[in-house]
Amino acid sequence: MDHVPTRPLARLWAYARSHRRAVAVASSFSVLNKIFDLAPPILIGLAVDIVVQREDSFLARWVVDARDQLLLLAVLTFVIWVAESLFEYLWRVWWRNLAQTIEHELRIDAYTNVQDLDLRWFEDRATGDVMAALNDDVNQLERFLDHGANDILQVLTTVIGIGIMFFALAPEVAWMSFLPIPLIIWGSVKFQRLLEPRYTAVRDEAAMVNAVLANNLGGMATIKSFTAEPREVERVSEASDAYRQVNRGAIRLSSAFAPLIRIVILAGFTATLIYGGFLALDGTLAVGAYSVMVFLTQRLLWPLTRLGETFDLYQRAMASTKRVLDLLDTRPQIVSGPMAPDALVGDITFDAVSFAYDPESPVLDTLSLTIPAGSTTAIVGPTGSGKSTLVKLLLRFYEPTDGTITIDGHELAELDLSALRSQIGLVSQDVFLFHGTVRENIVYGRPGASQEEIEAAAAIAEAHDFITHDLPNGYDTIVGERGQKLSGGQRQRISIARAVLKDPPILVLDEATSSVDNETEAAIQRSLDRLIIDRTTLVIAHRLSTIRYADAIHVLADGRLVESGTHEELVERDALYNALWKVQTGEAHHLA
Ligand code: ATP
Ligand code: MG
Repeated sequence: MDHVPTRPLARLWAYARSHRRAVAVASSFSVLNKIFDLAPPILIGLAVDIVVQREDSFLARWVVDARDQLLLLAVLTFVIWVAESLFEYLWRVWWRNLAQTIEHELRIDAYTNVQDLDLRWFEDRATGDVMAALNDDVNQLERFLDHGANDILQVLTTVIGIGIMFFALAPEVAWMSFLPIPLIIWGSVKFQRLLEPRYTAVRDEAAMVNAVLANNLGGMATIKSFTAEPREVERVSEASDAYRQVNRGAIRLSSAFAPLIRIVILAGFTATLIYGGFLALDGTLAVGAYSVMVFLTQRLLWPLTRLGETFDLYQRAMASTKRVLDLLDTRPQIVSGPMAPDALVGDITFDAVSFAYDPESPVLDTLSLTIPAGSTTAIVGPTGSGKSTLVKLLLRFYEPTDGTITIDGHELAELDLSALRSQIGLVSQDVFLFHGTVRENIVYGRPGASQEEIEAAAAIAEAHDFITHDLPNGYDTIVGERGQKLSGGQRQRISIARAVLKDPPILVLDEATSSVDNETEAAIQRSLDRLIIDRTTLVIAHRLSTIRYADAIHVLADGRLVESGTHEELVERDALYNALWKVQTGEAHHLA
């Protein structure tokens, strides 16, 4: 079995496999930048060497004259500074571009994965929460990759580089300045562990704020109509304050780190200063070596104070990375089957199907019915009886808890999901239009359709006239988010046009004309009548006049099939359908 890493960094490393080369290049730029940055003390040493030793100096091996040696040193200094600047530029560019690339890929992968998840998964979550992970959390990565990774590499380079110089120069005291380092590393790791849960909480609260905001912005009309503005400000403020409070916990801890580290460093620095000084006084340590040592100790230990900040960045980024990677690792329960028939005719059977969204309250109870190919079948029944649920099962948005559903003899679970769904045109009870033009929304049913085809579909849906006469820019009118700039009936007709344009063998109309007036409904009905010849059509309607002429009508109550037959047969019988019919025709005022 593959080893599955659990630490976010290890998971990220595994995820960013294809970028390891870029990470290596960026890392080497960071290291080279630091090496050139560490060179000046050596240059100073060389300068002193030239002035004191003249023709016996280190550089004398190549250039004899002391003045020429100084010129050579000047050239060397120049080269080193240019190299330092160049590599600094390079590591910045590489790390930041790497951050952007990984973020982009992560965002797209996470979105692609989320899109495949079950409807149930989305229903259990707030949109704002998922948004926070896909956007905010992904963006947190760059906080660490832009600087943090470089910082860690450069601190390491410093410790190793200066360590080498140090032990070469004054091995007797070198060990002393290194004493604080294990303590600092131990402290940093410990500190980082303490921070982890705090930043996880911070990200969770950030997602909560996002969820509240997204929810409120979506329901602005409701907030206003109930004059709930003060209450909503209060609610947003509570979420925002919770975010502030968890951040406070993290801030308190994270701010303490740098000062604490500095004290440890100060102890190491002072000890070297005093002990080395004593040795110099005793004559055991050369004065030159002592001064270089004090200088180097400072250069060695000081960068370590920045570790706190780096670990802070790291923890923050990892809290977010974990959320994104968890999203990426979530798998749908409903997976595509192996079979992908070219076309389905639409012989649909529900065989003893039971279903419940929540095990406590069953919605469908051993329901059996058949919808013959090419027929028009209607489902009626009181609100909440499970009609729309039946449709969701047919599209395999959910899996029945019991029983089977087949199309043309294939069990739904055996069919490829897109092969199944591409054969069904759904006009759903809650119409959703995308922010965009009328044309874009209709053509969603069949990308690439021509203007003539779009207009023909719109005409069938009784939409063409209002689009060209009533909308300011005709087919180019922007419908607004969720289609909010259109009337309810206009939205419904556009969604019918969209399904008609898709031209599927199976058409499902769930309360498709509930928001239009009777006259328009009758007109849509007439044009649909032509369309549904030879097409399997499932119609759900409350207004029984719309389904009067269906080949078969099934009456659902409390998730059970209570009656079936044609309109005439059902009206004859003295049962639920007859009662519903009487209420609608005005013969009775309420259900018996
Ligand atoms: P209507 O005529 O009002 O559209 P319907 O017959 O289409 O009603 P369904 O939408 O199928 O009714 O709902 C059947 C039952 O399932 C209802 O009690 C409803 O509360 C419940 N229900 C519907 N969708 C969900 C869901 N996503 N999660 C949990 N329960 C749900
Ligand atoms: Mg419904």
